[in-house]
Amino acid sequence: MNSDIEKILVSKEEIQKANARLGKELTEEYRGKNPLFVCILRGAAMFMMDLVKNIDIKMEYDFMDVSSYGGENTMSTGDVRIIKDLDTPLRGRDVVIVEDIIDTGYTLDRLTELFNARHANSIKIVSFLDKPARRIKHVDVDYIGVQIPDEFVVGYGMDYNEQYRNLPYVGVLKSEVYSTK
Ligand code: 5GP
Repeated sequence: MNSDIEKILVSKEEIQKANARLGKELTEEYRGKNPLFVCILRGAAMFMMDLVKNIDIKMEYDFMDVSSYGGENTMSTGDVRIIKDLDTPLRGRDVVIVEDIIDTGYTLDRLTELFNARHANSIKIVSFLDKPARRIKHVDVDYIGVQIPDEFVVGYGMDYNEQYRNLPYVGVLKSEVYSTK
């Protein structure tokens, strides 16, 4: 599987460093607030589990599964469907949305709107990766792990056709991987 990777964009060590920094910042921000961390499945699962281990306050977490794609694998359509909703009521909660990557911004724009409608007390966003070159919807991302160039990435929870999520780093696939599918 490693042989399908053209180059590594974010190494294991850089991932660990980013998580330590973000964990510290979030610990300071949410001390005494019992925040609810909302993991957006499936891409953000690995990030979320590493991140929360770096947070040293009382907190809760929950999961939501959304799909932001139409037929294509590498294109956002702006259509966000809820596949599995949260079990936790959001009214009055300080919510931290945990995303793997912000690309066009559609997903986080829609989720922020939805969580506002559910009367969260506050909503902040932490995204492991940020691909600013492709932004269509402006979204205030409060915490970012690493900024990356405009490339389709896999690994550390992120997939291509449901594969490569288990890679412990973020990388770019060789072009022949696409051409043989
Ligand atoms: P947005 O709605 O901001 O365009 O896209 C957010 C979602 O698209 C992410 O949560 C992720 O699932 C998917 N996505 C965007 N860019 C990439 C990428 O480079 N690689 C992978 N695997 N997924 C991506």
